[in-house]
Amino acid sequence: MVTSIMKMLPNDTEFTDLEKRAHLDLAKRARGGTIIYLAIWLISAIWVGMVQTSPVFFFVNTFFFLVAAAMRIVHYRRLTLHPDMNTKGMYDWLVVVLMFSGFHWGALSAWVIFSGSYPELYYPYMVILAAFGTGGTTALSISRAVSLFYPLFIFVPSLILLGVTGGKENMLMLMCTTFALLYVLGASRLSRDDYWSAIASQKVAEDQASVMEKLSITDQLTRLNNRMYFENRFIEEWDRCGRMNVPIAIFMIDLDHFKVINDTYGHAAGDECLVKVAAALRGEMKRTIDTVVRYGGEEFIVMIAVTDVNALPAMAQRLVNAVAGVSMCRGNQQVSVSCSVGLASTIPSRGADKDKLLRAADKALYQAKDGGRNRYCIYGEPSTETVLKEIKPRKTKDGRATLSGTEMTFA
Ligand code: GH3
Ligand code: MG
Ligand code: MG
Repeated sequence: MVTSIMKMLPNDTEFTDLEKRAHLDLAKRARGGTIIYLAIWLISAIWVGMVQTSPVFFFVNTFFFLVAAAMRIVHYRRLTLHPDMNTKGMYDWLVVVLMFSGFHWGALSAWVIFSGSYPELYYPYMVILAAFGTGGTTALSISRAVSLFYPLFIFVPSLILLGVTGGKENMLMLMCTTFALLYVLGASRLSRDDYWSAIASQKVAEDQASVMEKLSITDQLTRLNNRMYFENRFIEEWDRCGRMNVPIAIFMIDLDHFKVINDTYGHAAGDECLVKVAAALRGEMKRTIDTVVRYGGEEFIVMIAVTDVNALPAMAQRLVNAVAGVSMCRGNQQVSVSCSVGLASTIPSRGADKDKLLRAADKALYQAKDGGRNRYCIYGEPSTETVLKEIKPRKTKDGRATLSGTEMTFA
């Protein structure tokens, strides 16, 4: 029997996501059993004075109920507090405890009903036995092993005693209980099938939603994240930098005379160029929190939380150089591309309009275009190359570090 029970437990070496979800649901559904067996037992046993009449029987059974309740509590707490403990071993533990509870209640009820020692418990225990057998089995039918063995363990001890005791009335009872058992087994199978097909469909829907979400924030040509992704990341990063009181920097990057590449070498060459530029920009990102997105056609944005304001101009220059390093072969010609970069940074303050930072970077970008392209410009700074030498961090009135000339006042 142990072998057949083990066969019904999930036997994959890998405990799948679906099985983990089912494990958690089974644990939640089984929560009621933590106190219900113990409570009914204590109330009924104390009611009929079992503590005085059969103390050993009372305390031994109370001990079993307490052990089962403690095991359920420990299992549930470990599972809910430590999701990494959602393993097959833990699932097996729950299944064994549930089956033990079924067997214990089935055997105990059979004794209480048929021993004749406590006639006042005869009908209450018959009712409870039927309730546990039907309700318990349906609720716990997520597990194949539990849905089969729990009702068997609940009903079979009583069936055996009915058969052994004999008599016309008991035989009728035996027949009816057997039919009830078969009915419960059939119903639990249906309920289990419904449960598993429902969570399987739910998983498919969730997986599809997650693929769609990923697609919706990814640029299909360059595989960089897109503008939609940036809008959300910008809000998060703006708030985070504001909380940490560190500057946030935006580099707005636009390819120079890109239309000419399309017009001269064709749209496919333009696409290839965009892919290479995206890879080059991504290659310049040193930290996982640094963000590079394709903001529009041939526009990209790099957003970073600044650790050293001195390093910003050099980083802008690195981006310019990275794009200038991109080249493609067309026939025997080397095609290269350049970009202009607009840089703006600020420490986000409460209530400030973050879009002003974007507009500032955009202004700086057009200044770089006007200044001759293939260069960067810092918002509020006169020109590019000279800025590299002149730029110095300075302290604002409230002691925050900012780039010389790039501080923006937000309403
Ligand atoms: P500027 O230096 O002033 O930015 O000049 P530009 O030619 O880069 O700017 P303009 O806005 O005139 O042209 C941008 C071009 O980028 C036109 C458009 O066809 C091209 N473009 C936008 N998206 C794509 C794309 O996905 N693939 C290709 N191949 N070209 C694109
Ligand atoms: Mg453009
Ligand atoms: Mg352009």
